[in-house]
Amino acid sequence: MNLNVNEIFYSLQGEGGRTGQASIFIRLAKCNLACSFCDTDFERGVKMSLEEVLKEISQYGCKWIIWTGGEPALQLTEAIITFFKEAGFKQAIETNGTRKLPTGIDYITCSPKQNFEKVKELIPRVDELRFPIQKGDPLPNIDILPKTTRYLLSPIFDNDRIIPENVEYCIALIKDNPVWALSLQTHKLIGIR
Ligand code: SF4
Repeated sequence: MNLNVNEIFYSLQGEGGRTGQASIFIRLAKCNLACSFCDTDFERGVKMSLEEVLKEISQYGCKWIIWTGGEPALQLTEAIITFFKEAGFKQAIETNGTRKLPTGIDYITCSPKQNFEKVKELIPRVDELRFPIQKGDPLPNIDILPKTTRYLLSPIFDNDRIIPENVEYCIALIKDNPVWALSLQTHKLIGIR
């Protein structure tokens, strides 16, 4: 089995419910969407066998993988998740919610970008919903979304630069709708990957 890998790096999770936790990011190449605010270069990839990926990530003293992209659900299968689980890794995923997920993932972050009403059919329950928000965007309707205990609004940055009006807008939305909470891209604020 092979994966088309854009990059692998070791850092701290910068956003969401696992903020601050050491994690090995495995960015898989390609995405099925083309969001206007996307700041990730995920097009290029190299083919790596699962054994090659395991060898590379085993150099770090960390047992948490974050599958990210692009859209990692385009490539991940139950056999791949099982392979890394049997090697002792916990696995998180950051998905746009347009594909069913293989079973066995330990922490699901879903960040829907379109067709919100279809996401729940594909992924009924997630660990967090995280929405990129810029000033003027409507608040998503949680009744049609997957169930979760964490509803997060993430103000859109200008690359690594915070946009205060987007933050202020998110804060106002949250004060009026307190089921939601703020998720900042802290890795950008402190200059890490
Ligand atoms: S779904 Fe995510 S990775 Fe894909 S284009 Fe949109 S922001 Fe970028």
